[in-house]
Amino acid sequence: MSQNEALSVEVALKLLLEGNKRYMEGKLLHPNRGFMRRMETAERQKPFAIVLGCADSRVSPEIIFDQGIGDIFTVRVAGNVLGSLELDSIEFASLQFQSPILIVLGHENCNAVSAVVKGDTREIESIAALIEPAIKKAKNLPGDIVTNAVKMNVEYVVQQLKNSQVLAYAIEERKLAIVGGYYHLEDGHVEVIY
Ligand SMILES: [Zn+2]
Repeated sequence: MSQNEALSVEVALKLLLEGNKRYMEGKLLHPNRGFMRRMETAERQKPFAIVLGCADSRVSPEIIFDQGIGDIFTVRVAGNVLGSLELDSIEFASLQFQSPILIVLGHENCNAVSAVVKGDTREIESIAALIEPAIKKAKNLPGDIVTNAVKMNVEYVVQQLKNSQVLAYAIEERKLAIVGGYYHLEDGHVEVIY
């Protein structure tokens, strides 16, 4: 992606999903990772996407979306929760770079969510407090509680982000869309769920 191009919401989402398809199919292009890209981005960045994802070692946004240097502004924290630091980082990126797509990315078998479901929250109390509302909702749903809690948590975070004045303004101007995704560990698919 050229550093100067302003993308529409639709094109930005398409770029991410096309990259994910390449990743799933083992047809990686590894774009924007060479010397020229480093030179081009050294002065300034213009990431076309913001990702709030889990810190999980299996869910690296640049890898699963097959993107490179300067493409994705990434905020990662266990359980892809939204605290004040994560919100500030995302608002900062939106204001600075006008990235047209923001994806909240939960994933299968999330150990952070699973730990909170089991009540094993020692040393992760502040993250657990942010995941609890999703678990309360998931308890009433049929099916696997961790899977449901991960998806509820993504939905909850997307809703919270939409309450941000900075982001709501960009959405109203059609310069930003926020979507929720669920990453499947085995086939590598990022499913858009919200
Ligand atoms: Zn996780």
